[in-house]
Amino acid sequence: MQFLTILGSTGSIGTSTLDVVARHPDKYRVTALTAHRQVDLLFRQCIQFKPSYAVLLDEDAAARLRAMLTDAGSKTEVLCGIESLESVSVLPEVDAVMAAIVGAAGLRPTLAAAHAGKKILLANKETLVMAGNVFMDAVRAGGAVLLPIDSEHNAIFQSLPRGYNGDMASSGVRRILLTASGGPFRTLPLSALQQVTPDQACAHPNWVMGRKISVDSASMMNKGLEVIEAHWLFNAPACDIQVVVHPQSVIHSLVEYIDGSVIAQLGNPDMRTPIAYGLAYPERIDSGVAGLDLFKIGSLDFAEPDFARFPCLALAYQALRSGGTAPAILNAANEIGVAAFLDNQISFLSIAQVIGSVLDGLPVQPVNCLEDVLAADAEARRAAMQWLGVHK
Ligand code: NAD
Ligand code: MG
Repeated sequence: MQFLTILGSTGSIGTSTLDVVARHPDKYRVTALTAHRQVDLLFRQCIQFKPSYAVLLDEDAAARLRAMLTDAGSKTEVLCGIESLESVSVLPEVDAVMAAIVGAAGLRPTLAAAHAGKKILLANKETLVMAGNVFMDAVRAGGAVLLPIDSEHNAIFQSLPRGYNGDMASSGVRRILLTASGGPFRTLPLSALQQVTPDQACAHPNWVMGRKISVDSASMMNKGLEVIEAHWLFNAPACDIQVVVHPQSVIHSLVEYIDGSVIAQLGNPDMRTPIAYGLAYPERIDSGVAGLDLFKIGSLDFAEPDFARFPCLALAYQALRSGGTAPAILNAANEIGVAAFLDNQISFLSIAQVIGSVLDGLPVQPVNCLEDVLAADAEARRAAMQWLGVHK
């Protein structure tokens, strides 16, 4: 039996994780569930999965959930605040932590799980983007097992040799081919991009996801963040990570070897596949995902990414090459820009403008510890807010 903490259980990844868990009551038990403030959904999840702990960030929301659970005769203890997110990630009885909070908010509890040597199912890519070296050091020092859940990185993990040691050359790996759907605006006339709405940006052609990552997919910042994520996970330099636009999202990524072999992982675009893989690794379990119907798919297309249409992708490569705090600055400015776009304060194209301006305006510092990351994150958020004040 594996005991799980699911950080961000009310989100898209969180609910998909619980869907897989519910199929295997003999294998997995939920110890803790957490959410920002979605009381009603978290209540239903607590009734179904009977965790020992439920955490909400918000004090009032926690009080409401506590009252609802007491009324229902539940024994789940309700906690509140960021410290509680960390404490349920390091409980001695917990084997695995699903890191599925969105954005920088996921960093601290995910890092805590790494220090505590947990098996980490990593969906929260922002942790690696902001604090790649700090997090990877913590994984090593804590003896944690890191399993990528992001579909592309899960595909790469599956396509690399088992036990890959982070050395591409000695493993015979030439490069990583990171696939990207291109999002909903891949073929939209450039002149129409200025007017696109948040709902259009969130209408992804292949995946149903939270709103932040959906906007990131529309701007291809998601792929940019994933290039940085791949860099840290697989110790791959930027020049060996090639983004491949593949609109069908059937090939989830590929690894090219020096003998010319290319190994890929394919499947229907459903996050329950990588989630099930992470949960059961190194075994396989049923995820509820239907088999791939290649006859129905018929053909697969590939294209080079268009950096003029998707400046966010170029900015992410630039931040990775700059190193130090640059990716944390990129991430923070992006979070502020995306939130402002979702709030109808700025246009879609302004997201890249605010990020570019903040990246250009702030000095890049080396990252030696978490505090260096948090300081860069805070400074970049301030700079992005200032940009918004002038331009919105
Ligand atoms: P989502 O918005 O659907 O869910 C986010 C979850 O985090 C919710 O449970 C929410 O309550 C919680 N949360 C939000 N803000 C919080 C805060 N400040 N403090 C604590 N909890 C907070 O997001 P999602 O689409 O499930 O994505 C989660 C993460 O997984 C992101 O980092 C995303 O990039 C990554 N990811 C998602 C997908 C996908 O298909 N959805 C695929 C690959 C990677
Ligand atoms: Mg992905």
